[in-house]
Amino acid sequence: MSSSRKTEVLQLLRSSNDYVSGQQICESFGISRTAVWKIINQLKDEGYEIEAVQNKGYFLSSAPDVLSLSELKSRMKTKMAGSHLLYFDEIGSTNIEAKKQAENGAPNGLLVVADKQNQGRGRRGRSWESPAGMNIFMTIMLRPSFAPDKASMITLVMAVSVAQAIADVTRLSVGIKWPNDIVVNKKKVVGILTELTTETDYIQHLVCGVGINVNQTDFPEAIAATATSLYLESGRKINRGELIEKSMEHFEENYEIFCKTESMEGLIVDYNSLLVNKEAQVRVLDPKGEYDGISHGITEMGELIVEKADGTVENVYAGEVSVRGIYGYV
Ligand code: ATP
Repeated sequence: MSSSRKTEVLQLLRSSNDYVSGQQICESFGISRTAVWKIINQLKDEGYEIEAVQNKGYFLSSAPDVLSLSELKSRMKTKMAGSHLLYFDEIGSTNIEAKKQAENGAPNGLLVVADKQNQGRGRRGRSWESPAGMNIFMTIMLRPSFAPDKASMITLVMAVSVAQAIADVTRLSVGIKWPNDIVVNKKKVVGILTELTTETDYIQHLVCGVGINVNQTDFPEAIAATATSLYLESGRKINRGELIEKSMEHFEENYEIFCKTESMEGLIVDYNSLLVNKEAQVRVLDPKGEYDGISHGITEMGELIVEKADGTVENVYAGEVSVRGIYGYV
């Protein structure tokens, strides 16, 4: 059975709040009763709870926390972000795969999702923990028309979008640690890495990768003090498909706002309201020298406004810089 047929049946069940008759499924896809029955059984084997009632039909009562192409495709309603999808059980890095796909002509908005990465990376070549079966690793590929110096703001656009999605799905109080981390209770639940492929003065393509600690129950010693998961903070298992779906919905909306001005102008209020280090003491870890100050949120170009003790104000550009709280990670 083709996985696209399975996707279509899942989509039909998802789009209905009521029972869908076997007859309707047969007619929608021009397939036999037996074929419908086989697809329903396969979905049940994968963990979907589907109620079957005589004379009424089928009703999808719950979906398992599985990542698969059918699961993701049947959820996506976006026009651009994630409208084209690739799924891998295991991959080196979703950013690297997305770049490869871009070189091979993949369309704007391609989303690469993996259940596990074996070469997950953060900024400056640092590693990103990427175990199987519990977290989200995804990368969107874009072919923007804005200039390369605007690209670092995509990290901020993605941060707002994923934070909004997490708030929708978990009701947790979520914040952003400028520029690229999402935190819950002062610990990191999401990392974002944007990478560019440029041609003299224009962007050939851009990839923005997101790692979300969703259902992870413990962390390696080295990061245990600063890392957490949505499960550990909320006390309940979170459906990853739903979180990916909501992240792409918010990203599509926010990216459109961003593209209108090619700046954070339309998103600055949302971003600053999520910023954990707003009006807070921060330590700027600049490779050219560390300094402390009070952060006043971001500029329209996505820089962090930091007022030093002597009253001078720095607009900090994300590139090579990390920001810490004075007493710890946030
Ligand atoms: P920082 O976290 O130092 O402010 P950053 O946001 O740029 O900087 P990245 O380079 O994007 O951090 O992420 C890599 C770092 O994140 C690693 O060095 C490690 O400390 C931490 N880390 C790695 N895997 C995870 C994970 N699954 N969850 C939370 N933190 C992680």
